[in-house]
Amino acid sequence: NTRIVLAARPQGRPKPGDFRIETVDVVQPGEGELLLQILYLSLDPYMRGRMNATKSYAKPVDVDGVMEGGTVARVVRSRHAGFVEGDIVLSHSGWQSFALSDGVGLRKLDPAAASVTTALGVLGMPGFTAYAGLLTIGQPKPGETVVVAAARGAVGSAVGQIARIKGARAVGIAGGTNKCAFVRNELGFDAVVDHRPDDFAEQLKTACPDGIDIYFENVGGHVWDVVFPLLNEFARVPVCGLIAQYNAIADAGVDRLPTLMQQVLHRSLTIRGFIQREFVDQRPAFYREMVDWIASGRVRYREDVVDGIEKAPQAFLGLLEGRNFGKLIVRIAE
Ligand code: NDP
Repeated sequence: NTRIVLAARPQGRPKPGDFRIETVDVVQPGEGELLLQILYLSLDPYMRGRMNATKSYAKPVDVDGVMEGGTVARVVRSRHAGFVEGDIVLSHSGWQSFALSDGVGLRKLDPAAASVTTALGVLGMPGFTAYAGLLTIGQPKPGETVVVAAARGAVGSAVGQIARIKGARAVGIAGGTNKCAFVRNELGFDAVVDHRPDDFAEQLKTACPDGIDIYFENVGGHVWDVVFPLLNEFARVPVCGLIAQYNAIADAGVDRLPTLMQQVLHRSLTIRGFIQREFVDQRPAFYREMVDWIASGRVRYREDVVDGIEKAPQAFLGLLEGRNFGKLIVRIAE
């Protein structure tokens, strides 16, 4: 069993030495257990938070512990009544090539219904995050302007496409010409703006002539600073992620909270954070609708698949710097 463990808690931006690759024996399942061979590992921004010791909405990974993560796996040995060898399941087995499971929390996947990797992306946690956050908190209405950052990413690409299905105008923000071209031409957003050039603020203003009614926040940092003045009265801001801040060591800079609160009041803004699992009761509806939207071509997706578990640390570091092109997945076995 090849596995990747947290070697040290990162200070600021993580480095390859914060991870360690290990080989250990594969343990055979006991009564009521299964042995899983991991086929695909999902790499997601939340994993950066798990590397810190600080308290958050979830428990940190222990130093020397296996890095956490969502996986698609094959049952290779079953001593559990609910599963047979050959079943393909969605599990949360982490960064390793084999894992034991007691069956709790596993979901069987039907490879004939959809490519199994979609269970980690557009039909899985990131797609659901987009759906629940946008529809429940954002509540897009026809003609409104919805802006989403990290628009080429797993969550952002779904947000913009769902906004358009609801009749809203979708404006994406992405880093670099290739990502922007993909968001505009392949995902069909109404407009897209690159956040890297110096004239980003002017470009976003031009792309949003009627201001912004919903800003789906995925990044924070300099993107938020540019979006904030453009928010309309009664704008809604689902706060989904703040990836630009995940490597921050401490709060720095001037205190802008009084200005923020004043504007929340004057413009009647709704700013609401969420963690997708709080909307768990919407999962069946999400799944039904998303399957239809994909089948009818209204939602498109493309995954960024990296080969080999040993590549996971580098790929993850790239995700934090925007080097991924869509939902980032590591193929561990066929
Ligand atoms: P992505 O596939 O979108 O990858 C992350 C992207 O963030 C990068 O590709 C990059 O895109 C962008 N980015 C990174 N650093 C910066 C920066 N400093 N400034 C601007 N953009 C930056 O990831 P996901 O779709 O998986 O996740 C998107 C967000 O949603 C994350 O913040 C994540 O933590 C959050 N999330 C929250 C959940 C919840 O329950 N609340 C659940 C799932 C995800 P680019 O090159 O275009 O800048």
